Amino acid sequence: MKFNATILVPAILLALISTRSTHSEEPAMKPTWAIVIHGGAGSSPAQLGEASSQKRTAGLQHALETGRDLLADGGTAMDTVEAVIRTLEDNPIFNAGRGSVLTNDGRVEMDSSVMDGKTLGCGAVAGVTKVKNPISLARRVMTNTKHVLLVGPGADEFAETQQVPLVDPAYFLSQRDGDDAANIASANQEEDESHLGTVGCVVLDSHGNLAAGTSTGGTAQKLPGRVGDSPIVGAGTYAANGLCAVSGTGVGEEYIRNSVAYDIAAQMRYASKSLESAVTEIMLNRLQPGIGGLIAVSQTGEIVMQHNTPGMSCAAADSTGRFETHLILDNGGAPADTTDQTSSPAAEITALIQQQASDWNAGDIDAFMDVYWKSDQLTFSSGGEVTRGFDATWQRYKKRYPTSKEMGKLTFTDLEFLPLGDAAMQVLGVWKLERDEPMGGRFTLVFQRFPEGWRIVHDHTSKFPDPLND
Ligand code: ASP
Repeated sequence: MKFNATILVPAILLALISTRSTHSEEPAMKPTWAIVIHGGAGSSPAQLGEASSQKRTAGLQHALETGRDLLADGGTAMDTVEAVIRTLEDNPIFNAGRGSVLTNDGRVEMDSSVMDGKTLGCGAVAGVTKVKNPISLARRVMTNTKHVLLVGPGADEFAETQQVPLVDPAYFLSQRDGDDAANIASANQEEDESHLGTVGCVVLDSHGNLAAGTSTGGTAQKLPGRVGDSPIVGAGTYAANGLCAVSGTGVGEEYIRNSVAYDIAAQMRYASKSLESAVTEIMLNRLQPGIGGLIAVSQTGEIVMQHNTPGMSCAAADSTGRFETHLILDNGGAPADTTDQTSSPAAEITALIQQQASDWNAGDIDAFMDVYWKSDQLTFSSGGEVTRGFDATWQRYKKRYPTSKEMGKLTFTDLEFLPLGDAAMQVLGVWKLERDEPMGGRFTLVFQRFPEGWRIVHDHTSKFPDPLND
């Protein structure tokens, strides 16, 4: 196609903006799989006491090893979530499955849900009383029925038709936290909500799929029939490929009121927030202090664990060798400096683009180019002509715009953002150049996040037929 200098200009504008980065710069190594689990938010280790703390840590470690081994072997996110939560449900130290707290009339009523981020398939049960592993029953609601949530006697009846172990009520009343059966009922009556121990698991598997699950006995001394957030998809559990997988723990009513798990995904989808920024927004600004905690993993394997309670049992591992367990997190897991939590990728990129325009309008093409990737892989296309590499792009700009007369006054407007995972962003917009021969058009940019900041790695620019009136 014939070279068209006027079309080339704006694209070059954008392409030129380039970077301080070097050709060798690569994004930091990403994990191919990642897993996070929780065993409930509530008491600090000091409040839990030594014996309970040790049992919790051992339970988390065992569950994490189970998940790590499955994922390292190529296991799926859904299988891993189910297997890991089963180990936690079987451990009487946690408030799920065997260790479930009692209602105020002394019975167990368990809630659980699971969600497959690949398909948005989900299944849940609430108020079940005789299934050993509610997470497995929740998964069967997802795979073996056309429904999402079964409750009470109907859910128990469904369990009888499925290949899931059923148990006698006495199973839940033995060995809880080392107590003997006779003491269980009175121990539960003394429990308050500072001893919560719901369990959850979120996973990114090596196939690129996300999944989340949560299981609980609910809150201590709850009314019979009370259902919390754990079996409510969007409140206590959520997973969607491309965004995140989330599991919550805490005062379920607050998680339902605030649609907490879905809100995190929505902040990422609609406001282009990072996972950490979205979780921090909920934990610090939406939920009252002392309400609970969250675990989450993103499509890129970013792990986030936060609580606004005195403690939270949680653990994380990934394919880079990370393996850790906690009963409490520094600063509740929130970033030490939350001042930049108000900023989002979209806000950061908008600021860069506006800075580019003012550099251009100050006649400084070098500064304008500073946001471009300084790589021979930079791709710039305009007017049917593709230029590869930072140096070639920079030379075209310099040649085409020798003085501020040719440069004119540049504006970028109508920006739209489409996150491509956590570390890349597509940006659409309109450019206009006021000068003797005005022109304008549209552009599509792909930004990538490098250690030194966002850089344009791809720039495509087109021209309006009638630039200032289109
Ligand atoms: N969120 C659970 C519920 O409200 C309790 C917990 O996480 O400890 O049922």
